[in-house]
Amino acid sequence: MPERTAVRPLRVCALYPDLMNIYADRGNLIVLQRRCAWRGIGFELAASGLREELDGDAYDLLYIGGGQDRDQRLCAQDLIDTKRAGLRAAAARGAVVLGVCGGYQLLGHSYTLDAQEIPGVALLDVRTVREPGPRLIGNVAIEVQLQDAPGQSPAWADAQAEDGFKGAAPGGGRYVLAGFENHGGRTYLGAGQQPLGRVLRGHGNDGRSGAEGARAGNVIGTYLHGPLLPKNVWFADWLIARALHVRASELAVLDDALERQTHMSACHAAGV
Ligand code: GLN
Repeated sequence: MPERTAVRPLRVCALYPDLMNIYADRGNLIVLQRRCAWRGIGFELAASGLREELDGDAYDLLYIGGGQDRDQRLCAQDLIDTKRAGLRAAAARGAVVLGVCGGYQLLGHSYTLDAQEIPGVALLDVRTVREPGPRLIGNVAIEVQLQDAPGQSPAWADAQAEDGFKGAAPGGGRYVLAGFENHGGRTYLGAGQQPLGRVLRGHGNDGRSGAEGARAGNVIGTYLHGPLLPKNVWFADWLIARALHVRASELAVLDDALERQTHMSACHAAGV
């Protein structure tokens, strides 16, 4: 076991964990919990469901998973009514906000479905539209550039370089995220909105643009299920570090042999 790390506990809040949890997205929370525990970092998990106000000061990381259209409709209005102010306050003070698929869509301006515009919390400058056409389904791999990470985990940079991912040389700041997508909505980025990454394989935001997800500082949206974090534990570490305002290199290095295989196999499934 690595030595205990003297950082404060990670305070996490899962939004609508019962309704927005398609593809067992709660696996993302379990990864965060385990990786903190293995390092001796405290982990506090709270949930915020329908009709519950959200305290904008209480959490370091807020998570909203994927959902069916029906459940998304239920949550969208509640998000505006009871959580928008708290979410915006949390984002403004640098908390990590991570939305996956349906959760990602709700972090944008709107999700247009059956001619009805369901409003989102507008933390990301994106709009999602359910257009005619097939659902965008399949394994997906994207390249993300995390140059602004003050201390990208050197162990994982080395691992990815060794595993032969192009451009993943240590210090290059480019990493591969792999997962699985299944969405009917097509997401369009506003003019100045940065995507989370560039599609290597799969559909991404809209099946055409080559962009996947969106990122504004510590607010991140992505279509990658998998769940996302078990397949990409280096990204879990990056999020933990961002949420705790420490460098990723300050986190104790874990034995990630199995996790690396998991990442490799997710990448191979996507064809990279
Ligand atoms: N209901 C949304 C869509 O189909 C999101 C789906 C999901 O979270 N997997 O676009």
